[in-house]
Amino acid sequence: MRASIFWCMALPIWYYSLFGLRKGFYFSALVMALSAAILFTRADTNLYMPYRTLFNFSLVYIAIWLVCHLYEVQRRKVSSFLHSLALQDALTGVCNRHALENDFALIQKQFIHIHMLLIDIDRFKNINDKFGHDIGDAVLITVANILGQSKQVQEVYRLGGEEFIILLKNMDHQQVSEEAEKIRQAIEDETFHSHQEDIKLTVSIGISSLQPEQEFNDFLRAADEKLYQAKREGRNKVCF
Ligand code: GH3
Ligand code: MG
Ligand code: MG
Repeated sequence: MRASIFWCMALPIWYYSLFGLRKGFYFSALVMALSAAILFTRADTNLYMPYRTLFNFSLVYIAIWLVCHLYEVQRRKVSSFLHSLALQDALTGVCNRHALENDFALIQKQFIHIHMLLIDIDRFKNINDKFGHDIGDAVLITVANILGQSKQVQEVYRLGGEEFIILLKNMDHQQVSEEAEKIRQAIEDETFHSHQEDIKLTVSIGISSLQPEQEFNDFLRAADEKLYQAKREGRNKVCF
């Protein structure tokens, strides 16, 4: 009987690994509360085990509990940090393509009217060639910030390179066109800076409207076709 209580020391490890932080804490605390109640009331403990044994058990139990709790808090922090890294674009800090596909799967279930804006910087290669890759990077960061400024835009996604995506929900054809036009105009109005001279930029935007049962790749392809129409028609343009 005396020694068997030491098996209970493993309980916090089981509780935290099986039930997580909150429940792990409460279940571990319950065992400690029982042990403390017996210690403080000294309700004939010596019949079953010496007071000293229970006292030592309590101290070691608290130490193990503390380690389990700190470990779980740390594990959660690292896990959420890695999760956000996996969904974030390293350069601009906006969401990446992986996040876009995740979000799309959720949004598709909640909304009927969804539009995709595929935004591509015009002649971006020239910026890199003329001002260098670092200035190109700074331009991408500023563009990402401008895209996120509109109230209608909940999330900006960087598809890769100089292409960004915005999903608009519950908006009709007219509202989506106006929003895209606002974005196009905002980029045109912005002055970007390099060490040598000010830089002016434009973007082309292709818009697709989600069809019933449409897969993500087809939704994206439809926006891409419209984007290339905008490029063909001279750039700095919105095509729906
Ligand atoms: P278009 O108007 O047809 O879109 O022309 P464009 O020059 O914008 O398109 P193109 O696809 O020819 O070039 C895209 C350039 O984007 C090429 C590549 O060097 C640059 N790029 C892609 N990713 C990055 C990045 O992370 N940082 C920088 N600075 N440049 C990038
Ligand atoms: Mg491109
Ligand atoms: Mg481009």
